[in-house]
Amino acid sequence: MKPKTKMIHSGINTDELTGAVSVPIYQVSTYKQEAVGKHRGYEYSRTGNPTRFALEELIKELENGVAGFAFGSGMAAITAVMMLLQSGDHVIMTDDVYGGTYRVMSHVLDRFNIESTFVDSSIPEQVTAAINDKTRAIYIETPTNPLLKITDLRKISDIAKAHNLLLIVDNTFNTPYWQQPLDLGADIVVHSATKYIGGHSDVVAGLVVVNSTELKDKLHFIQNSTGGILGPQDAWLLMRGIKTLALRMEAHEQNAKKVVSFLTEHPKVKKVYYPGLSKHPGHDIAKNQASGFGGMISFDVGSLELAEQVLSRVKYFTLAESLGAVESLISLPAKMTHASIPKDRREALGITDGLIRISVGIEDGDDLVNDLNQALQD
Ligand SMILES: *Cc1c(COP(=O)(O)O)cnc(C)c1O
Repeated sequence: MKPKTKMIHSGINTDELTGAVSVPIYQVSTYKQEAVGKHRGYEYSRTGNPTRFALEELIKELENGVAGFAFGSGMAAITAVMMLLQSGDHVIMTDDVYGGTYRVMSHVLDRFNIESTFVDSSIPEQVTAAINDKTRAIYIETPTNPLLKITDLRKISDIAKAHNLLLIVDNTFNTPYWQQPLDLGADIVVHSATKYIGGHSDVVAGLVVVNSTELKDKLHFIQNSTGGILGPQDAWLLMRGIKTLALRMEAHEQNAKKVVSFLTEHPKVKKVYYPGLSKHPGHDIAKNQASGFGGMISFDVGSLELAEQVLSRVKYFTLAESLGAVESLISLPAKMTHASIPKDRREALGITDGLIRISVGIEDGDDLVNDLNQALQD
């Protein structure tokens, strides 16, 4: 099956009872048992719900895994995965992971004695150097936010296998339409499905896919025990979103290419970060491990004044956090998502006051370029 067909024909796409071609929303908490312990596979909706199960089957197939799990947010999904670890374990993580991931590791799980070290995982030697005898997992985000750094997943997978470590990959930015980390050697994939998978800024959700029955059993036990599940209505919205994921990802990328070529030519733009640019340091790796470069772009206009001018003048880019939706979004990482990082550390990372991040939507690409052009004018 080719990727576009996969988005439509994977998982469970017909209701067995009625033939309905959309899985019904089973808005239910409990299920009638014929006799004590005699049921049709469902007992209680925290443990399993048919609508959620249909989504879990779908994401499992899209990521080429053994089992899928749906959670109430990306952070609930990531936290559940971390609960595979024990007190005393150590994890090596990409240094510019999503802020919420950094927060849960350094301010919540650290209290349970799960230690984390943050390294520049685009340099595999830094990952190897951070391994100690307590290390149990490597957690990678690629591309990252907002600088779109790329980590070579095959290389990190070799390191993980050599040291018997779990490799966990946050695939939110590329989605399974462009990148399948399990095929590149990862053990677990996580998603904030709030972003591209949902795609319409109307649902908060998280997904996990694992590559073995051992991890499947362990994670199901954690999901059922800790209870951070996704409700049936939101599971249905994600399945609806996935039906157009291929079309949306292609449209995001086409628009991103137009915007990038405009920005790279503009005299007031000092630097453009986009993995599709041949001079991007991760370009060749990105090309090798993913079939697209995505719709996220960051660019530096050199000053806070100009950045604020652009943000206040754009008409088609909504000033908001989040990303991956049909509408274009714009943000200023230094003042928004990354404001809690001290200024000198931010500047050292390249997150200057003039750095603007955009999530390119699926509007007409020429409208987006014209909008940025007028916003950058004197
Ligand atoms: C948003 C995001 C998360 C967290 O997901 P929520 O759905 O907001 O809980 C995790 N990782 C990445 C890369 C994200 O962009």
